[in-house]
Amino acid sequence: MSCCEKPGLMPVEQALAQLLESAVPTVHTVQVSLQEALGRVLAEDVVSTLDVPPAANSAVDGYCLRVEDYVAGKAVPISQRIPAGVVPQPLQPGTAARIFTGAEIPPNANCVVMQEDCVETANAVQINAAPQLDQNIRPQAQDIQRGQRILQRGQRLRAQDLGLLASIGVAQVNVYQPLRVAVLSTGDELVEPGTPVAPGQIYNSNRYTLIGLLQGLGLHIVDLGVVADTRTATEAALKTAAAQADVVISSGGVSVGEEDHVKAALSALGDIQMWKLAIKPGKPFTFGRVLGKPFLGLPGNPAAVFVTFTILCRPWLLKAQGATHFLPQGFSLPAAFTLSKPGKRQEYFRVRLDMVDGQLRLVPHPNQSSGVLFSASWSSGFAVVPPGVTVSKGDPVQYLPFDALLN
Ligand code: AMP
Ligand code: MG
Repeated sequence: MSCCEKPGLMPVEQALAQLLESAVPTVHTVQVSLQEALGRVLAEDVVSTLDVPPAANSAVDGYCLRVEDYVAGKAVPISQRIPAGVVPQPLQPGTAARIFTGAEIPPNANCVVMQEDCVETANAVQINAAPQLDQNIRPQAQDIQRGQRILQRGQRLRAQDLGLLASIGVAQVNVYQPLRVAVLSTGDELVEPGTPVAPGQIYNSNRYTLIGLLQGLGLHIVDLGVVADTRTATEAALKTAAAQADVVISSGGVSVGEEDHVKAALSALGDIQMWKLAIKPGKPFTFGRVLGKPFLGLPGNPAAVFVTFTILCRPWLLKAQGATHFLPQGFSLPAAFTLSKPGKRQEYFRVRLDMVDGQLRLVPHPNQSSGVLFSASWSSGFAVVPPGVTVSKGDPVQYLPFDALLN
């Protein structure tokens, strides 16, 4: 333990390593169409059986010819017209062909002159710029070569990957079946948006944050709604969740108050492997098993839900979903804030990237309370400050953009 960690609180790195060790990648796969494949994890390597493009083609609209047939000031007769989609005839020596972008280069031609450098007269073309060998020709297989491995098992498919698969003619891919994730919100004070809120009640926001985050990861959601703050209701809900899902996620009820029943229910139905981390916000994060199923217990405070999900649950879920890259990539940027008192926990400031004094800096939301969800909505990412570290304005701080965390 370093000087500054609180006794009893597990450091974030240790918790993450322990969590990831417990995440067993799924082996269940399913064949899906490209339209259904966005965000899914590939279950196989993809090797191209084609060259892309299949033949050399023109990069511009213009005229193709042999470089050696160009003579300054002399018009070249046009022997054929080649639009895209047509198989050309071999080019007759001493002639040019009218050609369009994407059309195949005919055998014998070795350059294309863009039409802006040409003047077409009756059946001939006057070329006004000396052509270079291979100019404006896109070679066969410049994008993908036959036999090339273009995507790897464990990759999450993005839009450009789907386009790449389509470009080699693949219509279906083998992906891992989405994990079923049960979502529970604990709390007697919670009511659903769309219904009136009575004194003492608040709207359930965590349910929507969590479902949105899980949808972004392409997981199958088992939405179990709200659980009352009793031991009986909590145990019953956990049993249902474990029966219906591969992994259970809850919010609230993991603190130390007598209205917090999740830990006791978890102990009764399984075990607690982790509780209380050196993370801010999100200290009461809990990990364990309920009836053999992994259980991720998030705090109730809405900003803490957002932090603990993105930092701890997301990597776990991605690994269990078969993804080979599950840790977010951050980078360093100067802080626009000061932290003069070193913290005992690793803090995830909700920050926005903004220009300050002509420099891109990490500007924190003014209220970093774990109950302030607006801090997450306002921000573009986290500034991560390890325990024991102070920050002065301009100091480099690790920035984790939400772009790297929300899908
Ligand atoms: P708990 O950990 O259950 O004590 O909850 C901590 C704080 O988060 C309390 O102020 C709760 O009212 C609030 N909270 C818990 N669950 C939710 C939820 N689903 N939506 C919004 N706020 C919540
Ligand atoms: Mg509660």
